[in-house]
Amino acid sequence: MVKPLGSVRSDNEAFDRITSLVRDIFDVDVAAVSLIEGDRQSFRSIQGLDLTEIPLEASFCRATWREGKPVVFEDTAESREFCNHALVTQFPSLRFYAGVVLRTSEGQPIGTICAIDRKPRGFSDREIRVLENLAQMAASEFELREFASRDALTGALSRRHFLTECNHLCDIAAQENLEVSVIMIDVDHFKTVNDRYGHAAGDEVLRALIVACKAHLKDFHLIGRLGGEEFAIALQKTAQQSVAISESLRQAIAQLSFQFDNSTVQITSSFGVAGVQAGEPDISKALLRADKALYQAKAEGRDRVVLSV
Ligand code: GH3
Ligand code: MG
Ligand code: MG
Repeated sequence: MVKPLGSVRSDNEAFDRITSLVRDIFDVDVAAVSLIEGDRQSFRSIQGLDLTEIPLEASFCRATWREGKPVVFEDTAESREFCNHALVTQFPSLRFYAGVVLRTSEGQPIGTICAIDRKPRGFSDREIRVLENLAQMAASEFELREFASRDALTGALSRRHFLTECNHLCDIAAQENLEVSVIMIDVDHFKTVNDRYGHAAGDEVLRALIVACKAHLKDFHLIGRLGGEEFAIALQKTAQQSVAISESLRQAIAQLSFQFDNSTVQITSSFGVAGVQAGEPDISKALLRADKALYQAKAEGRDRVVLSV
């Protein structure tokens, strides 16, 4: 199974700076900034322990995540929840924990920041406030990255981030001997929607198209906006499977119905599909082939799916 990929993973410097601050300010052995998705906690920066990801169930942060407010265990060995935990009873024998939830500006919980030490110790209200401020800095950084990586209109990945994430997808697929394919989508006669009903109507069509695609794509996938009304989807599927998926997307898009200027408006779209071939290091050649197939779909009359041969 492919692991969900974060928006930007190459540059963790900002998070490393925050975990350094946590260690220096509180004089603790371990500091971590992590994201929590489902039952997984993935560390975006961790100092003093060698971990990248753990099940939330096995983590001290599960208590912070559950409580939704700052949690302090001055001595984990004295706490009912963690006294028998392997990280407490065995090496590295972690005895102190303080954690705060990271929240988006809308209050959505996204992860945690924590300070951990091998010795039991106290943690004052002032120290909690400092940790809360650091949590806010980390959360803002996550939000900025998320904002930068997505197209504001549709929420699809921006072109650059789509290509970066596709390369991670290809790397993982190559390691696990799985196939990757790419679907390119272009709305048919989209200019006519803009010309007849205005730019805002066109925007509504693009938003609805992405909502419809996301609703149909069950397994892990990446959706990017490559330009104007042109989108691409990368999946861990064979090209043949992607053709079938494209066909159901094509039908779903054709069934969308809009009310513009008292008229009912429907749209169609054309698809080009190509598989990443063995030995290709990234998605670029497959994208070119999918683009050619898309061009062919347009030339053959639009509202259809063409597989690159
Ligand atoms: P075809 O079937 O050949 O694809 O025809 P088309 O009219 O869809 O293609 P064309 O490339 O001529 O037109 C694309 C239009 O998309 C032109 C551009 O103004 C419009 N467009 C690009 N980005 C946006 C956007 O963000 N919002 C809206 N409303 N329109 C956009
Ligand atoms: Mg078009
Ligand atoms: Mg176009």
